[in-house]
Amino acid sequence: MTPLADILVRQIAATGPISVAEYMAACLFHPRHGYYTTRDPLGAAGDFVTAPEISQMFGELAGLALARSWLDRGRPAPVALAELGPGRGTLMADILRATERVPGFHAAIRPVLMEASPLMRARQRSALAGYDVAWIDAVGDLPDLPLLLIANEFLDALPVRQFLRDGDAWRERLVGVVEDRLAFALGPAIPLPDLAPRLADTRQGDMVETSAAAASVAEEIGRRIADRGGVALLIDYGSAGSLGDTFQAVRGHAKEDPLAHPGAADLTAHVDFAALARAAPCPAAGPVAQGVWLERLGIAERARALAARLEGTARAHHVAALRRLTHPDEMGQLFQVLALHDASGPPPGLERT
Ligand code: SAH
Repeated sequence: MTPLADILVRQIAATGPISVAEYMAACLFHPRHGYYTTRDPLGAAGDFVTAPEISQMFGELAGLALARSWLDRGRPAPVALAELGPGRGTLMADILRATERVPGFHAAIRPVLMEASPLMRARQRSALAGYDVAWIDAVGDLPDLPLLLIANEFLDALPVRQFLRDGDAWRERLVGVVEDRLAFALGPAIPLPDLAPRLADTRQGDMVETSAAAASVAEEIGRRIADRGGVALLIDYGSAGSLGDTFQAVRGHAKEDPLAHPGAADLTAHVDFAALARAAPCPAAGPVAQGVWLERLGIAERARALAARLEGTARAHHVAALRRLTHPDEMGQLFQVLALHDASGPPPGLERT
């Protein structure tokens, strides 16, 4: 058992089962034993690898898309350049490097990172040494400025609740204790007004997931974009509409039972992009598949230019990275991109076609 498993078993035995959302929040951000509070999960030696860690092309193209959106809006200054859940700081570093030569852009931007983990903040500080970066704890703390925002593999870490359809009512999936071990349980069947629309597209025994935390992030970002202008790129694995159990644990690049090692495994759920678009009080575009988005932004040309400077294994790695980011059997289809935007329209790569 992990130290956090002990704590949760005792707590649940004393006060009763908790929601999957409460379990997720404890596992990821417990101050002493949380997954993100105690380790850097990224990279080959960690538990998973993200798009910006696979290739610099991801951040370069995202950066140029954000800079293009800034130009399209008449170069507002100052403008917040924000990232939610920046991991090792690689994505923001690539965005900043790629946009260095966009005239006036660096003078206009105020880079802001939202990061909960002190350990990851330290990683970001060293990756972004030389840049004037501010850290915030919550989206409510974003500066009151026009906004260029990106979040990659951030929303999937936000807690979800799970509900199983039972007749016209719903039973919440809970984490309880059986014989001193964590075990899933089901709450009583109750009608849930918030899930009434889902009675139309689900059947007996179907599971749906909701994330109040993700919806409130989308609402806050959308309100700022509606008020002050800007765009947001929300990139994650997921789909438009939630159906089925997507709550999963990954440890050492392998999937495992989410109750097996609380605090020592990464816990995620698929992002419901339709719910994000509904929650945001501004226009939304997409989601489009990551592979399509990157191709529209010119990843093939960028890949060729970089390949010309590489040889041997470096070149082979580069070609493999391109495939990993874009191919439908790899990250190209599973990962989706949703844009929130103002009246000036969606950022490049998300135009309606
Ligand atoms: N975007 C990065 C890292 C993804 S890992 C990349 O693409 O490589 C998720 C990141 O989000 C980590 O840095 C984690 O500490 C942070 N995070 C997760 N939940 C958070 C929350 N509620 N508030 C702030 N940061 C959070």
